[in-house]
Amino acid sequence: MTASQFDALVDAAETGLDSDTLTVDTDGETYDFAVPDGEYSGLSESELREAAAQHREYVAEWYFWHHVAPDAPERRAFLRWVERSDDGTVPERHERLHAGTTRRWGQLRIRVQLAEAGRRTYQVRHVDDEDEPVEDLAIHTDPLDAREIRKYDDDGRYRPLSTAPTLGRGWVFVDLTAAQLVSTVDTVYPATVANWYREREGELDVTHWHEAVSRQTGIYGVVETWDRGNGHDHVEWVAEACCDDSQCLKRREWEYDEETPLDVDGGAGRFPCREPCSLVVSAARKWTRIDAEDEQTYEFELTPSEKEQVEEIIDAVAEGRADEIREADFGDGANRWRARFLRAKRFDEDGNLGGVLTERPDEEE
Ligand code: SF4
Repeated sequence: MTASQFDALVDAAETGLDSDTLTVDTDGETYDFAVPDGEYSGLSESELREAAAQHREYVAEWYFWHHVAPDAPERRAFLRWVERSDDGTVPERHERLHAGTTRRWGQLRIRVQLAEAGRRTYQVRHVDDEDEPVEDLAIHTDPLDAREIRKYDDDGRYRPLSTAPTLGRGWVFVDLTAAQLVSTVDTVYPATVANWYREREGELDVTHWHEAVSRQTGIYGVVETWDRGNGHDHVEWVAEACCDDSQCLKRREWEYDEETPLDVDGGAGRFPCREPCSLVVSAARKWTRIDAEDEQTYEFELTPSEKEQVEEIIDAVAEGRADEIREADFGDGANRWRARFLRAKRFDEDGNLGGVLTERPDEEE
């Protein structure tokens, strides 16, 4: 037990401390002190020191959560979740923390370990780098470094959506304090800790689609178009396209409106999404124009395999699989040579499928 821990304990006794695992009190002359493993009363200050030293794990635990961990309820709740602090007695938890314990948050793997005097030390890395030796990764200690890490994927492409499951690998944050851990997580996945906490407390304020879109300055008139025609099908398709777990790690909690849930599943992410993000709103806005066009009937000649190939190409692009198809895998409809073969066979020199012109009302004679 450190001197500052004991001083804090004596200070706490002045006003009386009654936590889950430790109570201490004083009548101005003597001290009462209790932990689950022992109870003492009428102690002098030096006897209190001895008793506290005997149960130093409890004192260290109380001190960490009340004097070291960040003084914000959502941050503390998150740190407690990280180390599963509801599971076991203080000595059991310390034993577990001594060996180190891990949690997953999106694509982050968080490791917490007990340090001196009950302090914790944290490490954060990509989940897929779980087994990599630290020395093989780029080592960081400043949470703000996460701003660069979250910007690009492993192919160097910009990530406009921080919760897309495309976080780059090859880095590790080491020796983080409790406050630094939360800052690092918050930098990689902004507001996820706060919204996760609000949801736990039953206080997540959700802004549903219709309300969110109505707020968009200057495009109020478009809202009706967005909702038009197929009821709220347009929103269903947007949510299915963008908010699926394969595209975003947040769990969509917003619906069409308060009374109209979407049929498409919100996903299984650990942290909630409380309103349509700007990327989704911007995509939906663009697609509204496409979706608002009148349908036309076209006639193409395709073999059954070619029709299936068109379907396979769309599917491969939608699933982000196109780049993974091997060059010699000619059986895959989205294989590049096979797609080029289809284009050579079925496109005219102006790029029209089957030589059929695209009909647009304003281009009609
Ligand atoms: S709106 Fe959809 S894509 Fe955007 S953050 Fe929420 S769940 Fe993710």
